[in-house]
Amino acid sequence: MTNEASPAVNIQTREGQEQLKKMGVKPIPAPDDLTRPYWDAAKRHELRIQRCTACSEYQHPPQATCEQCGGATLEWAPISGRGVIYTYIIDRRMMTPGFNEPYVVAQINPVEAPRTTVRITANIRGCELEDVYIDMPVEVFFEDVNAEVTLPQFRPTAEAKLQSRGEVRPGPAM
Ligand SMILES: [Zn+2]
Repeated sequence: MTNEASPAVNIQTREGQEQLKKMGVKPIPAPDDLTRPYWDAAKRHELRIQRCTACSEYQHPPQATCEQCGGATLEWAPISGRGVIYTYIIDRRMMTPGFNEPYVVAQINPVEAPRTTVRITANIRGCELEDVYIDMPVEVFFEDVNAEVTLPQFRPTAEAKLQSRGEVRPGPAM
């Protein structure tokens, strides 16, 4: 995509993001100092979120200090990538350039921090739009968009009830 007449797009800038839109490429995250460790981990196909070293609470999206205790020392702890859908939307109007089919944007509550404000925003893939439901069990997978950006995305686990197919997949415990 890059040649001498068209310098590399700098995705860190608003101009770069606008350029991507004009090219019909889906907008991709522009990491800043606060969020860069999340995206760097994703590049290594790891899911890491902030955890306070003082009170051990997880938090996401990232903040400069701990929401719970105000602690200023936050580590980037690896998590399993399993969770449940807290809420979601289906964008059928495709107002974002580069998206040509309806898609799901969900907030995922990781199993490590159940019933908290910890929520990871991602697309849900690997099922029909109609399959998606609140509390659906999901697991992370990593989508390498380009050499610089990998997106943590989520898909239903084997325990998820995929209603569009009229079936309930048996989970390991059943
Ligand atoms: Zn804390």
